[in-house]
Amino acid sequence: AYNLEGQVALITGGASGIGKCIAELFAERGATLILVDKSEAVHETARSLGENNLAWVADVADEASAQQIVADSVQKLGRIDILVNNAGIGPLAKSEETPADLWDITMAVNLRGPFLYAREVGKQMLRQKSGRIVNLASQAALVALDGHLAYCASKAGVLGMTRVMAMEWGPEGITVNAISPTVVETELGAGGYWSGETGANFKAKVPARRFAQPEEIAHSALYLVSGAAGMVNGENLVVDGGYTAT
Ligand code: NAD
Repeated sequence: AYNLEGQVALITGGASGIGKCIAELFAERGATLILVDKSEAVHETARSLGENNLAWVADVADEASAQQIVADSVQKLGRIDILVNNAGIGPLAKSEETPADLWDITMAVNLRGPFLYAREVGKQMLRQKSGRIVNLASQAALVALDGHLAYCASKAGVLGMTRVMAMEWGPEGITVNAISPTVVETELGAGGYWSGETGANFKAKVPARRFAQPEEIAHSALYLVSGAAGMVNGENLVVDGGYTAT
């Protein structure tokens, strides 16, 4: 059920962190990759994981490049079976000090980007009458995270988007699900804000008493795109070591 041979997977934010880890796991399971990232490093990541893989440097919030990337990729590879909307940012600001620009960029990358890629890839999946979409939300979609106003709002939006697409596209053989991790040991996750005392205090509230590893998120994504999860649709898979259960 966890074999992706013959399948094509588009992963945004695939150059580093969780996205790169998902790319590595999907490639290991036989998928051909289309990686999209604002970082040039995406070329090397794609090349290192398979010779037929495609890499595109783009901002996921840009509509024209989303349309062009999806169209060109389908022309080259014939189909897209899997979309992982993973690219995201988590800038910090207290609610009363949040500049409108910070709000806008967070919404653009974390919510507009996933919407654009899901819409464009969704049209192709509707033609194929099959497809799997996984959106990276966050624990912050479910509970408040101090200093993360725009981030929490954007990730809650991702869950709303996930449910509507699941409902509308479910009859056409497409599933749309979300994953909501707690802090993950990546640059975004454990890098700055979550290191030191802030991180230690946070870990103390996680029943698992640790942060998640990127591999744990990648395997959750593999489950959701696999044949084993055909009846899972519109779901939010919470991978938080029990945080939101307490
Ligand atoms: P990361 O910062 O390590 O990697 C993010 C990748 O996305 C980078 O390669 C970056 O270049 C790319 N990216 C950023 N903005 C982009 C844009 N506008 N267009 C194209 N590419 C862009 O982050 P990560 O920790 O791997 O997070 C991945 C996803 O998981 C994000 O959506 C994040 O919100 C979510 N998430 C992360 C954590 C965590 O603690 N790390 C927790 C919950 C959810």
